[in-house]
Amino acid sequence: MSSVVDSIGVKCSRCGASYQAAVYRLIDAAAQPELLSRVKDGSLFLRECPVCGQRELISSPVIYKDLHLLVCLSGRPLSVEGLDGMKGRLVGDVGSLIEKVKIFDAGLDDIPMELCKFVTRQEMAKDVDLKFLRLEGADHDIIFTYPESGAMQMLSVGFNVYEDCCAIASRNPDLSAEGLARVDRDWVEQFIR
Ligand SMILES: [Zn+2]
Repeated sequence: MSSVVDSIGVKCSRCGASYQAAVYRLIDAAAQPELLSRVKDGSLFLRECPVCGQRELISSPVIYKDLHLLVCLSGRPLSVEGLDGMKGRLVGDVGSLIEKVKIFDAGLDDIPMELCKFVTRQEMAKDVDLKFLRLEGADHDIIFTYPESGAMQMLSVGFNVYEDCCAIASRNPDLSAEGLARVDRDWVEQFIR
């Protein structure tokens, strides 16, 4: 298998020009490892107007897969046959797809990561949408981003918090996901509230 790309006619939201944009339906980073960095920096999901340069997010349904992970961005629930030991995840938006890829590419797991985000929100005493960005430094600090006051904020959390969440997840058999699973804030909070 390799990636599937469509060319679709779109209209620029700023200048109104019509142009053809490349839209990925299947991103096969196992066959094309060079796509991984374009998923992680988000550039694969941007189209650019050739007239005025306006960049816009492409948020149509897409499947991402590499050797260990399959992420499906879709508005409706669906099942995928033959995951063959791969992690399967269902997400509802591009930002969540990118975050899943970043988490697993960093050698981490999204279930303890969602727990870690829950604990961090409690510590902050703020209801914010945390997204994993990267590990940083020799101590592998967890860097989260979140939107606040119209800007993107960054927050560093000690790796020990993530490790504690791994221990909690391994002790709690409910905190596991089979098949194509939606692992997000709502999913994790049903087990801790
Ligand atoms: Zn334009």
